[in-house]
Amino acid sequence: MGTDQLLDAAGVGGRATCGVAATLEALWLGEVQVLVVADGVHLAGGECPQCGRLAPEGTAQCPVCGTTMLMVHDLFERAMARTREQVGRVEVVQGEAAKRLREAGGGMGALLRYSIPAATAPIEQPS
Ligand SMILES: [Zn+2]
Repeated sequence: MGTDQLLDAAGVGGRATCGVAATLEALWLGEVQVLVVADGVHLAGGECPQCGRLAPEGTAQCPVCGTTMLMVHDLFERAMARTREQVGRVEVVQGEAAKRLREAGGGMGALLRYSIPAATAPIEQPS
């Protein structure tokens, strides 16, 4: 399993995610089979004390239940632990593969157990 396979699958709307927000969403849904992270990436974020949802930094309230998020210093570490709790696999990619994953998805992606609907990301309304 390499970054290319992940990016290919994510690109065609297959059973994969590429990107921190999309991957955390899949993780919360329990759909992550293989979490792929780029070596050396550290990102702060938030965790919901109510439902356990993880989210990128800057998310003040849980997108699921609206509870105020708690600060998490290493979001990637939390995501890896969560994946293992769900009996998923964690793959840390390095070198050129890590660089590509950082550029394409902020250093995080996943292969999924089930296919997910194409449009799960919230659509931003112009103000
Ligand atoms: Zn929540």
